[in-house]
Amino acid sequence: MKISSKTNRITPSLTRKLFNMAHEYDDVIDLTLGDPDLAPPENIKLAACKSIQNNLTHYSANAGLYGVRKAVSKHVSKIWGIESCAENIMLTIGGMEALYLSLLCMLDEGDEVIIFAPYYVNYVQMVGMCGSKPIIIDAYGKNGFEITKEQIVEKITDKTVAIIINSPNNPTGDVLNEAFLKNVYEVACENDMYIISDEVYRTLTYDSVYHKSILHFPKAFERTILIDSMSKEYSMTGWRIGYAWAPVEFIQAMTKVQENVAACASLPSQYAMLYAYENAVDNKYIVSEFEARRNFLYERMSSIEKISCVKPKGAFYMFVNVEKTGLKSEEFAEKLLKEKHIAVVPGKAYGNNYDNYIRIAFTKNISILDEAICRINDFVRTI
Ligand code: PLP
Repeated sequence: MKISSKTNRITPSLTRKLFNMAHEYDDVIDLTLGDPDLAPPENIKLAACKSIQNNLTHYSANAGLYGVRKAVSKHVSKIWGIESCAENIMLTIGGMEALYLSLLCMLDEGDEVIIFAPYYVNYVQMVGMCGSKPIIIDAYGKNGFEITKEQIVEKITDKTVAIIINSPNNPTGDVLNEAFLKNVYEVACENDMYIISDEVYRTLTYDSVYHKSILHFPKAFERTILIDSMSKEYSMTGWRIGYAWAPVEFIQAMTKVQENVAACASLPSQYAMLYAYENAVDNKYIVSEFEARRNFLYERMSSIEKISCVKPKGAFYMFVNVEKTGLKSEEFAEKLLKEKHIAVVPGKAYGNNYDNYIRIAFTKNISILDEAICRINDFVRTI
């Protein structure tokens, strides 16, 4: 059977590999996927139910219902402080579709996109699916993400079209600081590049850490595609609703693609988004639950010999250094799964130079995390 070379270039992710392996065990504690166990706010659920009961469930315009785009646009203006109108918004099937459609609309065969490692795995795959080339810059060290302008400029060629940033970050939980963002902003302006700013974890920061967006820089709106979604903010991963904010001309291009891909985002989810943003529904219970889990996990993991970790400032991941165990990340993860039935993701999934790390998603409650940490401790002691 013929399978296209485009498809054959996609490598199945290690995240999914470990997730699939995990489900061979009955008592496994699965800390692989970024899919929290928390329920979304009741009033948002009700808004979606009402849309179903009232048969507001037909196709919408390709970019989404105009009223929802208007509400999202107001929300963007308020949060990011930029001028915006409904035409700047396209509703998508989660942040993932917003990412993919934006890449499709800006990339030609052979173009290049700068991605900082460790990275969200799908960036690399999506750029490849567009026939383009991901250019990886390792930017994570003991002080989190750091980059100079020169390090970025070194990687620019006449094929470079865009640069992707992600803050708060998956897989490290780091929040990009102002110096990092400023360097990206200046290089992008000086070299006329797009910036794709993935901020799906925007509201999940701890210890009052401030999430600064690239859109806070004066002219960033001219070249930035903002990616956001309800998945992480409201624990609504399966609702598959997100949006892109971008210059109007770019949204028009994305809308043309959407007509041929999915027609539109799901209508009950669009109504859920309308309710959430019109009413500024807060997600404090979600943030405080993750903060408690993060504190617990950090304190307990830090006390395990041969393991070191940095306290995540945001998102719900901890990137744990296991170098001193003498095991590389995939071996560590597979043995941990086979021997102790704990599933984590090998760091090498997020970039070739992160093979000394594993990623733990704290998407389970504290008593489950407690059991997981006990098993990890037992495992490390036997290595
Ligand atoms: N961006 C990052 C960094 C992510 O970690 C994820 C999901 O894990 C997404 C985007 C996509 O999320 P969704 O499509 O559910 O909005």
